[in-house]
Amino acid sequence: MKAFAELGLSAPLAQALAGIGYETMTPVQAAALPPILAGRDTIVQARTGSGKTAAFALGLLSVLDVGVARMQGLVLCPTRELADQVSREVRRLAHALPNVKVLTLCGGVPLRAHLASLAHEPHIAVGTPGRLLDLMQRGALRPATIKTLVLDEADRMLDMGFADALRQVMGHLPSARQTLLFSATIPDGVRDISRKLQRDPVAVTIVDEADEVLIEQRFFEVDPVAKPVALAALLQMYRPESAVVFCNTREAVRAVAASLSAGGFSVLALHGEMDQRAREETLLRFANHSANILVASDVAARGLDIAGLAMVINFDIANDADTHLHRIGRTGRAGRRGVALTLCAPWEVSRANALEDRCGSALQWSVPPVSRGEEAPSPARFVTLMLDAGKQDKLRPGDILGALTGDAGVPASAVGKIDVFPSRSYVAIDREWRDRSLQRMQHGKIKGRKVRMRSLGS
Ligand code: AMP
Repeated sequence: MKAFAELGLSAPLAQALAGIGYETMTPVQAAALPPILAGRDTIVQARTGSGKTAAFALGLLSVLDVGVARMQGLVLCPTRELADQVSREVRRLAHALPNVKVLTLCGGVPLRAHLASLAHEPHIAVGTPGRLLDLMQRGALRPATIKTLVLDEADRMLDMGFADALRQVMGHLPSARQTLLFSATIPDGVRDISRKLQRDPVAVTIVDEADEVLIEQRFFEVDPVAKPVALAALLQMYRPESAVVFCNTREAVRAVAASLSAGGFSVLALHGEMDQRAREETLLRFANHSANILVASDVAARGLDIAGLAMVINFDIANDADTHLHRIGRTGRAGRRGVALTLCAPWEVSRANALEDRCGSALQWSVPPVSRGEEAPSPARFVTLMLDAGKQDKLRPGDILGALTGDAGVPASAVGKIDVFPSRSYVAIDREWRDRSLQRMQHGKIKGRKVRMRSLGS
């Protein structure tokens, strides 16, 4: 538990906090306020109830110059209800500052009323993207002087169709500003916005309390030369259906994948040096269960969004807490229990201990198991077959399923995920049926067209 006093806030803000009765920071506040108050662009994964509003409100207010009657902060929200809540929290925290003007500007209210209230420029405007854009286009709201931009619940704004309005609002903003982005989830669309609007943002991920109990974390102190053996033993002990092993460098990704492969594990490697197509195929094969283990670097794993990942293993401990939380947050999703294991060289133990604050509980250290090597690793259930035809050839998943179950005589239960791209398609097929499918399809046709099929990997 950290006290707000540690932050060195100005007297009026400290006084307002005391007045409201906030003493210790919530985990989101403890993690996000230091970069926010340091002026950094920050992307925070946090939900309602996490204390996120106070986190960005303190950011807005700490750089506010009340003596300057110009707009200095702008908060975009998906709904009127949220905008009202945000304004309320900002006003409460601004209570001890003299005359801070906060305006809420959302659709559904006659425009006239907003135009009238804007006769005196607010210090901070909070609203929904559509109405804010409208007011900017009319020249009634002039955001050229803002210091801080906040996007609250960015994922919901996208879900509600505000992407276009957001893009247009951005055209009115000054480039020298701090941008704070809050979102309960970080799908590609939100990542995209962050890339467009933020400069070198600090990422804050709080695996919140409900999720935290669903991720079992264990740490192992292992001599670096013994790490490959410890990794294999852990995989044999836990036998996860699917696991991602994170390494800090490309070289380590290659070496770890090679050593697991030599040990009989069904494994794929993913690193930044692979071309787009190879990366796509690797992710697709892992997602369709053609491999049980994916060894990856952080950069390469960015696009990885696989539901129900049973386990994350850090072959190397991440260089910072954000990356660690990001890695382990990929397991234990949607109410499923996940396991996160971290191997630490003796000199990395202090880095692990530094995570303790962020994880909110004491770390559990264990001794890695000793592999008795009596049982072979299980192979992946599926293999991936690639077809040289796709959407451009009007091929649909049903056509591929039909060809396999019809001409090739494969039972439907042996066919897994089918992915159709513009000029190629992929189908996961039960390992046992691979040869037969390839043989039968050699002379077969799909939709009257001869389609070549080959197996990816083994
Ligand atoms: P939010 O996630 O911003 O919607 O906040 C959730 C609730 O937590 C709100 O009712 C806040 O008033 C309250 N809250 C925020 N920060 C703190 C804190 N540090 N201590 C106690 N309550 C807080």
